[in-house]
Amino acid sequence: MELQLDHAQLFFDTGTGFRQASISPLPAIGNRLIDAENQPHAFVFYSHFHHDHIQGLAFNPDLFRHSGRIVLTSALSSGTELYQQLKRYYSGSYFSLDILANLPDLHIRDISAISDMAARRFRLSWIKLRHPGGSYGYRIDAGGKRFCYLCDNEYHALQYPELADFTANADMVVWDGMFTDDEMKTKTGWGHSSIQQGIAFFQQTNIKQLMISHHAPYRHDSDLADFEKNCPDGVIFAKDRLTIIIE
Ligand SMILES: [Zn+2]
Ligand SMILES: [Zn+2]
Repeated sequence: MELQLDHAQLFFDTGTGFRQASISPLPAIGNRLIDAENQPHAFVFYSHFHHDHIQGLAFNPDLFRHSGRIVLTSALSSGTELYQQLKRYYSGSYFSLDILANLPDLHIRDISAISDMAARRFRLSWIKLRHPGGSYGYRIDAGGKRFCYLCDNEYHALQYPELADFTANADMVVWDGMFTDDEMKTKTGWGHSSIQQGIAFFQQTNIKQLMISHHAPYRHDSDLADFEKNCPDGVIFAKDRLTIIIE
């Protein structure tokens, strides 16, 4: 999931979709380049470190030819812990290349440092979600618009007040709709929500658009198209390479 702002490029997790992401060259502000050391332009926010959220990181070709600084961070753990998680996954027994040693553009920081670094370009907030092993959602406020990313989360009614407050007036909310209500009957504790829970949440709140994402691996495009036909206006389904302009 990628969010492009005027002077920053934000990614939320690095699953398989990250392989195709085009990481912008350093942008200019006026006639000078952004200071990559102090004001990186590309950020990756990790909700958590399950396989499906980190497996695309090493497969983006731009990381191997790019000369910009890309900062990885997570509200779930400190920068040191994030470094250890990625180091374990991308070296030794699990992967042939130690990407943290081989990709000098990748930098890992505590999330509190990112808030300060980004303050002039966007406002960052995060929220704890319900997921085995933990997970955090994010909110970005920039240019008078609000974007929220809420994956992975097993929605519970007790979360409603906090989530409604976190997403208040949001222009776009990305919702973990891996299952249907029917499938949820046998998937309690798997850490995901349903499409119908997303629609109900959308209808109870003042969110402008809700995007159902984190589709079950066995879902086909035709299934998603069928679901989408029966959704209220404002509820859409994430698709490969789908681009939405929030205006
Ligand atoms: Zn997960
Ligand atoms: Zn996941």
